[in-house]
Amino acid sequence: MRNGINCKLVSEHLSAFVDEELDFDFSSEIKRHLCECLDCRRKFAKMLKLHYLLKKYFAGESLLEHKAKFVSNLKFVSSVDFVTQK
Ligand SMILES: [Zn+2]
Repeated sequence: MRNGINCKLVSEHLSAFVDEELDFDFSSEIKRHLCECLDCRRKFAKMLKLHYLLKKYFAGESLLEHKAKFVSNLKFVSSVDFVTQK
């Protein structure tokens, strides 16, 4: 377990987190921080949308897989009471 996870650390690794490039322990810590921190949750939601759009344009045939991940990530975000901006 790593200590001292904070907003700065989370935002530095958010992109890798969205891409699932982090090790399991670290991404669990980030997830836990996201559950507690509205600011980071907002950043995460924005990052998700951005990644999804990029992948939509560049990923080609693996789009469906990314869509499934995107949806499951969105479910995670909404499961911690994230209110989407309209
Ligand atoms: Zn935070």
